[in-house]
Amino acid sequence: MKTHSIFLSAQRPFPEAHTKPNAMTIDTSVIQLHDKQFKKLVTRDQIAHAVRRLAAQITQDYNGNEVVFVVVLKGSFLFAADLLREVTLPCTVEFIRAESYGALMHSSGTVSITHYTGQDLAGKHVVILEDIVDTGLTVRRIVTHLQNMNPMSLAIATLFFKPDVCRGTVEPKYVGFEISPLFIVGYGLDYNELGRNLADVYVLHTS
Ligand code: 5GP
Ligand code: MG
Repeated sequence: MKTHSIFLSAQRPFPEAHTKPNAMTIDTSVIQLHDKQFKKLVTRDQIAHAVRRLAAQITQDYNGNEVVFVVVLKGSFLFAADLLREVTLPCTVEFIRAESYGALMHSSGTVSITHYTGQDLAGKHVVILEDIVDTGLTVRRIVTHLQNMNPMSLAIATLFFKPDVCRGTVEPKYVGFEISPLFIVGYGLDYNELGRNLADVYVLHTS
C-alpha cells in the first residue's frame, strides 16, 4: 500500500489539475474528427496486449539475430514506438513513406515511395512495421522496394489487417487484430490527419 501511494503522488505532482473539468478530454466512447463521428472499437489495453504478443513472437522467431525494422510513416509511429520497446533483439530502425493518392477513406490504386531513410538492407533480416493492411497495395509496393536491396529475409508485422479486403500477394506474418472492412482511426491512424494521437482505436460511426 505504501509503495502504491508513493507511486500515485509521483504520478500526480499537481493533484488539483485532475479535479477540474478538462475541456481537452477526448477519451469518450464517441468522438468527432472533422465532419465525422467515430465510436470506440479497440481499447488501449487491448492494443498494449496485442503489441506485447507480437513483440514476444518476433523476439522468439529471430532468436538473437539482428533485425532492421522499417517503420511505415506516418501511421505506424506509435505501434513502432511501443513494439520496439518490448523487442529484446539487437536492432536498427529505418523509416519509409509510401503515399497512395485518392479519396480520404479508401485506398487508391497508385502507390509511390516518397522517402526512405537510407540503410542498405543487403543480407539483413528486415521486418516492416505497418499500422494497417487494407487492400495490401501499399505494403506490396514497399516490399518490392525493399526486396530490390536483397535482404536475407523480409517479413511484415501489422497491427490491423483486413483479410476480406486484402488483394495483395503479400501476407503479413505478424498480425495484431484482424478486422472487417471498417474505417478506423487512432493510435497512429488518421482521418484527414486528425486522430493519430488517440490512445484507443475508433471506428466510423454510421448511424
Ligand atoms: P492499403 O489499401 O494499400 O493496404 O492501405 C493503404 C493505406 O490506407 C494504409 O497504410 C493506411 O494509411 C490507409 N488505411 C487503410 N485502411 C485504413 C483505415 O481503416 N483507417 C485509416 N485511418 N487508414 C486506413
Ligand atoms: Mg499506413
